[in-house]
Amino acid sequence: MATVFLNGQFLPIEDAKVSVLDRGFIFGDGVYELVPVYSRVPFRLEEHLARLERSLAAARMRDPHGRAQWREIVAKLVAAQPFEDQAVYLQVTRGVAKRDHAFPKDAEPTAFVMSNPLVGPSAEQVERGVAAVSAADDRWLHCDIKSISLLGNVLARQRSADASAAETILFRDGWLTEASASNVFIVRRGTIQGPPKSNLILPGITYDVVVELAQANGLPLELRPVAEAEARAADEIWVTSSSKEVLPVVALDGRPVGEGRPGPVFRRMYRLYQEFKQTVMRAGKERAVA
Ligand code: PLP
Repeated sequence: MATVFLNGQFLPIEDAKVSVLDRGFIFGDGVYELVPVYSRVPFRLEEHLARLERSLAAARMRDPHGRAQWREIVAKLVAAQPFEDQAVYLQVTRGVAKRDHAFPKDAEPTAFVMSNPLVGPSAEQVERGVAAVSAADDRWLHCDIKSISLLGNVLARQRSADASAAETILFRDGWLTEASASNVFIVRRGTIQGPPKSNLILPGITYDVVVELAQANGLPLELRPVAEAEARAADEIWVTSSSKEVLPVVALDGRPVGEGRPGPVFRRMYRLYQEFKQTVMRAGKERAVA
């Protein structure tokens, strides 16, 4: 039975219960994080906790634990699992209160943390690449908040699921934003391009790693708005997230991306990422030593 954390207690998942009046259930009024853990070491925990703090502040929600407490909860939960590579999910909601849109006066935030096995992409997905479809990005304008209100992302993701594809790449007003559960980079004439961080995308921790690896290894990189037409004419498209790592998209809406197979810049970045995983993430470091 998996051990989870709920409101100050570690307990078996079967015993973890939340009221139907929890505002997470009623309104989707909450925020979350997902921290990848390699060989029992949480990767960039401070960055994840900083992003959680930013999400909480943007949602005007009280942080039920300080940094030190979150660190301790994550460490205990990681130690309690029988597997080495984990995906630690943290969620905070505005708590239990009579249903009313306005903030309750004195509700205690609900804090929930669980850890599941971290499942990365299959060897086949990496070698052959994956298919994606596109959709209009009709989500709200605060996509930088890691909100549990994910209906827009869920509906977007289902479009690709219905098409037996791995992701849905989103365009807003003719510009690339991100995908339903990942960030997106393209490669044109050898240059990696990605939309700069803004309120329209989630500031991915994997996005940061890809940018750092490109910069540290002299791969040309431009962070600037990417037009939909540029993305559709790209030589390569990648999606990035803590669980997908860096994954090549080889077909978009049924048309091949570039030559329809993982490109050379992807292969370089993939090697760099795997090396980084072994020498930095698994070794409990945050960054490669320059
Ligand atoms: N964008 C969205 C909408 C996401 O849901 C995620 C992760 O789940 C990402 C981007 C990538 O973020 P990270 O690299 O921190 O996992």
